Amino acid sequence: MDKKLAAAIQRDNDLEDAGMHGDDRRTCWTHQTWAEECADNPMHTNPSVSHYPRPA
Ligand SMILES: [Zn+2]
Repeated sequence: MDKKLAAAIQRDNDLEDAGMHGDDRRTCWTHQTWAEECADNPMHTNPSVSHYPRPA
């Protein structure tokens, strides 16, 4: 993981703790990568996974 990604994940975690909606994350906590790089992962289309719902 590069430092830029690690910093972005940490920032998203902090923002989410501060009240930001999970949909607004730019990174994926589950996959530890950029959200856009794993948006098509089946895990994100599974209704049982509610912390990172795929945009309709
Ligand atoms: Zn992901």
